[in-house]
Amino acid sequence: MTILDGKTLAKKMTTTLKQRVAALQQQQIQPKFAVIIAGTDPASEIYLRNKVRRAERLGIEVAVFRFPANVTATTLIQQIQQLNQDAAIHAIMLEMPLPKQLDSQTIIAAIDPAKDADGIHPLNLGRILTGQPGLLPNTPYGIMQLLQAYQIPLVGANAVVVGRSTIVGKPIAALLTNQHATVTLAHSRTKDLTGLLQQADLIVAATGQPEWLHANAVKAGAVVIDVGMNQNAAGQLVGDVAYDDVAAKAGAITPVPGGVGPMTNVMLMTQIVALAEGSQANA
Ligand code: NDP
Repeated sequence: MTILDGKTLAKKMTTTLKQRVAALQQQQIQPKFAVIIAGTDPASEIYLRNKVRRAERLGIEVAVFRFPANVTATTLIQQIQQLNQDAAIHAIMLEMPLPKQLDSQTIIAAIDPAKDADGIHPLNLGRILTGQPGLLPNTPYGIMQLLQAYQIPLVGANAVVVGRSTIVGKPIAALLTNQHATVTLAHSRTKDLTGLLQQADLIVAATGQPEWLHANAVKAGAVVIDVGMNQNAAGQLVGDVAYDDVAAKAGAITPVPGGVGPMTNVMLMTQIVALAEGSQANA
């Protein structure tokens, strides 16, 4: 059984990123990104703090724009437009979730797709479907990098993705399809999900249900990617996969923590650096 070690791979990628940032700085280019945060969601504050710390360790500069929870769409869009036009800003991110009164898709659509390091603008999501180069949502991007690093065969593989969110399930299904896997995109209304999972060479679990996938639904030797980041009853971080149970049957598995999470984080930094270099990722 292979542990798909996202933590180690992310560390390796971070070392390369540091060198790329230093090379940019020698050319008088300072990679810089802007984060917009509205309201005082405690989880968002933690994500933001971690993002800033990771960026600063790499030598990437961060500008944080804070707004109250009652901010209007007009105010946020004006701020985004200003950042779109600011040549010193290479990437723009919105800390999610936005306050309830705002339609997040309207705000996301205001971001210049060429500065969308989270890969959530509809143009970038559309580029995945058309197989064009573009900025990718970081979690699916990180999963693809991990699969590639461990040379997991995808051509003709029977893949079942569970979860159809816009930033995880749908794009990973499209990226796997682009790599010639045969993909089933399952969700809470899928019939006989266990039967489908039992046929899968590759399972991507992105349900948000703590320790939901058990060995009875996994084919011996299958590759299992656990996207979940959930708290169990004891307050510990657990994935969507019952790890010990499934690891005993799987051919390869991502741990939580230490699998998809670190890959997601490093892919964001990778896309920011790529934008500062003037290039874009490949779908
Ligand atoms: P969403 O809540 O947006 O989507 C969950 C999906 O899972 C929905 O499509 C839902 O179906 C489906 N689902 C829920 N329960 C079941 C079930 N019992 N059987 C089948 N399908 C089910 O989640 P996200 O995609 O945003 O996130 C998924 C998980 O990944 C969460 O734990 C989240 O914290 C984590 N995450 C981790 C990241 C990382 O960096 N590691 C990054 C992003 C997310 P339906 O559509 O029918 O409701």
